[in-house]
Amino acid sequence: MENAAQVEPMGEFELIERYFKRAIDSSCVKLGIGDDCAVIDVPQGYQLAFSIDSLLADVHFFADANPSLIAQRALCVSLSDLAAMGAEPLCFTLALSLPHADQQWLSGFSEGLLDTANRYGCSLVGGDTVRGPLCISIQVHGIVPSGQAITRGGAHQGDIICVTGSLGDGAAALHALKGDLSVDDAAYEYLSKRYYHPQPQLDTGAKLRNIASAAIDISDGLVSDLGHICKASGVGAQIDVHCLPISDAVRLGVSEEKSIDWALSGGDDYQLCFTVSPSEIDKLNRLTELHHLAISNIGIMTAQQGIRCSKTGRTLNKNNTGYKHF
Ligand code: ADP
Ligand code: MG
Repeated sequence: MENAAQVEPMGEFELIERYFKRAIDSSCVKLGIGDDCAVIDVPQGYQLAFSIDSLLADVHFFADANPSLIAQRALCVSLSDLAAMGAEPLCFTLALSLPHADQQWLSGFSEGLLDTANRYGCSLVGGDTVRGPLCISIQVHGIVPSGQAITRGGAHQGDIICVTGSLGDGAAALHALKGDLSVDDAAYEYLSKRYYHPQPQLDTGAKLRNIASAAIDISDGLVSDLGHICKASGVGAQIDVHCLPISDAVRLGVSEEKSIDWALSGGDDYQLCFTVSPSEIDKLNRLTELHHLAISNIGIMTAQQGIRCSKTGRTLNKNNTGYKHF
């Protein structure tokens, strides 16, 4: 891009060279940063799965947070979408809008970004850099065996609803980081880690291919995201609130009602919610045992549309705010 919006005085190209260009150790990447396009081989028998997320300063992250943690979170959040499809990461591109070329910020940001990229075997292969309000857009590219991507649309009545990990940590973390939830040091550390290093469930997602009938990652909250599965699959859901997996940090930090509310609709958890046909449940149980996966069975898909809470039988709002569960 050649216009006045380029970052100066270091210069766009010097900035890219210094902070973002690294040797790539993926055999699929034929050409990375430096040309007009990146060129990638898609292995035979695989399809490309890709997804983009934009994170705006002070909307999606605290602008004054540690830039390394901002970068780590940004990439993990994008990788979570690949996990939800059962795809494996291949590479990603970064569109970065910066108010100015702050070397210290860039150094922390690129370190966090490239370390995380390394950890998940996902190379940075290109991007765009402009001057403007702080905004981070990451497009992840993954591969999935042809025809095996897990979509939102495959759930049937009678399928069992499962989630990975624990729910409500994302919402609790946000409150703890903002200072309006006081928890002990250990819980603060746990929650802050959950916020800045959400663990994209890539291994579990890949293992669920051919087992899960539908899947989604929980970014907006369980009720909202499960609602997308319901809509795409043309069915409803019943959740047993007593089966929701809630961490001790959340359980001990707030009332039971609040913890359930956060687990149902807090968002920012980046766990997977998926459905499994009863005929596949033995396979899932074997997988869970073999790989010590943290998977909870939280309900069942129903013919009746909408999402209900088993305790009260009342319909949960997608937007769930203010709803009293008990
Ligand atoms: P063009 O003008 O052809 O779009 P650019 O001048 O924007 O190319 O970028 C030059 C090279 O640097 C390209 O390979 C591009 O993918 C890469 N690039 C630009 N910004 C970034 C960034 N923030 N992170 C990684 N690669 C980048
Ligand atoms: Mg450009």
